[in-house]
Amino acid sequence: MKRVVNFEENEDAGGIGWEFNNEHTIKHEVKKQKKNHEGKLNAKSNRLDKQDFTKKKKEMLAFRKQLPIYSGRDAIINSLKENDTIIVMGETGSGKTTQIPQFVVEAGLASKELGAVAITQPRRVAAVNLAKRVAEETMCRLGSKVGYTVRFDDTSSPQTIIKYLTDGMLLREILSDELLLRYKVVVLDEAHERTLRTDMLFGMIKKIQKIRQEKYNAGETDVQPLKIIIMSATLDAEKFSEFFNNAKILYVSGRLYPVDTMFTTEPQSDYLDASLVSIFQIHMNNPKGDILVFLPGQEAIESLAALVNEYASQLRPHQQALMACPLFAALPPSQQQKVFDPAPENTRKVILSTNIAETSITIPGIRYVIDCGLAKLRGFNPKIGVESLLLHPISKSSAWQRTGRAGREAAGVCYRLYTENTFRELEDDTVPEIRRCNLASAVLALKASGISNVLEFDYMDRPSRSSLIRALEELYALNAIDDTGELSDLGKKMAEFPLDPSFSKVLIQSKEYGCTLEVVAIISLLSVDTIFFTPSDKREQAAEARKKFLHPDGDHLTLLNVLKSYWEVKGDVEWCKENFINSRNMRIAMEVRNQLIRFCERIDMDTNASCGAETDQILKCFLTGFFQNTALLQPDGSYKSVTGGQLVKIHPASAMFGKRVEGLMYNELVFTTKHYVRGVSAIQSSWLPLAAPKYFNNVRKNEP
Ligand code: ADP
Ligand code: MG
Repeated sequence: MKRVVNFEENEDAGGIGWEFNNEHTIKHEVKKQKKNHEGKLNAKSNRLDKQDFTKKKKEMLAFRKQLPIYSGRDAIINSLKENDTIIVMGETGSGKTTQIPQFVVEAGLASKELGAVAITQPRRVAAVNLAKRVAEETMCRLGSKVGYTVRFDDTSSPQTIIKYLTDGMLLREILSDELLLRYKVVVLDEAHERTLRTDMLFGMIKKIQKIRQEKYNAGETDVQPLKIIIMSATLDAEKFSEFFNNAKILYVSGRLYPVDTMFTTEPQSDYLDASLVSIFQIHMNNPKGDILVFLPGQEAIESLAALVNEYASQLRPHQQALMACPLFAALPPSQQQKVFDPAPENTRKVILSTNIAETSITIPGIRYVIDCGLAKLRGFNPKIGVESLLLHPISKSSAWQRTGRAGREAAGVCYRLYTENTFRELEDDTVPEIRRCNLASAVLALKASGISNVLEFDYMDRPSRSSLIRALEELYALNAIDDTGELSDLGKKMAEFPLDPSFSKVLIQSKEYGCTLEVVAIISLLSVDTIFFTPSDKREQAAEARKKFLHPDGDHLTLLNVLKSYWEVKGDVEWCKENFINSRNMRIAMEVRNQLIRFCERIDMDTNASCGAETDQILKCFLTGFFQNTALLQPDGSYKSVTGGQLVKIHPASAMFGKRVEGLMYNELVFTTKHYVRGVSAIQSSWLPLAAPKYFNNVRKNEP
């Protein structure tokens, strides 16, 4: 399957055919290219002597002045003086995130006396790096005037007047400082990403601004009105403006050189292989400029980095060297820094990044972008709702953002690893997270952030009232909220997990049932479509092979059996093939498992706690989250759901297919021609009241 990467120049025997498309050339105004001062200070900056200090300061100022946003400095400051809220729209790299907070402070609109500037970022990496950069630009020690706060790491101090923080941290600060009185200006950055957290912040900050204005008008001298700046990299400014009472929009014209956009002539089935081939095609044919490859996640980045370095080691001595630089959220900061450092002599950098590099972080030196067209987004995993490890196609606006990264310093090229037809079918914009994830999960997060009345909350994209009520009912049934509508202790813990609430509950309850090891494993396996491999020409062999894993109690324990065998052979690919196990999905599931283990460890759960042979414990535990997904056997041999009395059928792919047991529990109900249930296990009806005492008492009460 693997194509040979052709190291000879051109005439790519196994290369990818590219189509040049003129229409998609990004045409932008090209301003005179000024030398891009690197302006980097070395780490010992606090020991610079005075002369050096003055020199560096001049260099920094010169760098700042040539950024596109600098010409708009006065307009931004004046607009902010006259308006409570402004929307700033501008190309990535124009200087929004690093410069605007500095302008605000320089103009005296924020200060130690008035209050600081907070700038939110959806990602931790960005918050940390931006604070470092701005500390350098302002020639101050990180943690003094400029600092950052991310989870488990806070470099801010009472002196800090420019503070970068993740949106999650600002939400936390609202819990203890309701009106965010320590800030005079709040900047909500990367608004176009529309994460659930940014959406929550939109509504909350808008309300805080209103209350502070009222208090100020009423003469409360210790309350200053709040200024809000919304920043976005895409053209959706009107929507933000509308939400913030028609706030003024300022456009920063970018400094973008033309970028040629190339599509593949054929769809690519293996994006890693296609990326590898493309990297070397570019490397062999073009002398200058670094390459930025957009990949969906850490695993893809690490495998490709290994491949690039392996092939690069085979380059001939007279050829320019290649160096892979990974960039993803979980990478240690020291390694992330490599991305920004200039490559060694006669070496080209290949930066392999997640969508962090799409808008949050600007990397100098890029001339070529390779876009695999995929991303991982929270909530696109319909199975368990975990930060999706399933890949999802990006939106058109994301594709254009990625393309734009090639034209920061000179004309560039973007290679899209998909066809033009595929591009046409992409969504225009990324769907807001609140629309993608399970609404109960969103409501849980809202409640955990102190928004107790979720029905009245000011949503930018309001979910329907009935769907909100349904979500509340679901959370109530799960005991995540109590009789007064407040989050229970269990609910607070559940909000820590990026899972659909039923799964979060099962996971937390596994501590009591002593089966965390098994539960984590099974949930991970449920996160992928299927771990079985059923080629259409070998259905019978596949079914035969599956038999040896079948557990009489159903799918949950069958999955566990597969995993035990998989572990015994250490995930051997040949074994998977022989046993009709989908090794790719198994690997993905194991990635989810590692992710879940990390979350469990955060709340001090022992992920090795096992129930051994007492497998009923596992099913009882699952029932605490899925008691509403149950059905009981009827005298005629059919199954009727416990809530709703719906006739349900066991899916033919289930281990329970054709079996008669007292009761069933299932993870999903699929509507095709019939109401099929999938992920099914046998239960006893006597387990039900124990799994959800409150719920079943109420149900009984309601019966005549
Ligand atoms: P925006 O928010 O508009 O996308 P930024 O304010 O993040 O832009 O960045 C403006 C410019 O500052 C970038 O184009 C880049 O030249 C420079 N810059 C930002 N961060 C760094 C960094 N960590 N190292 C070097 N240069 C940086
Ligand atoms: Mg920015």
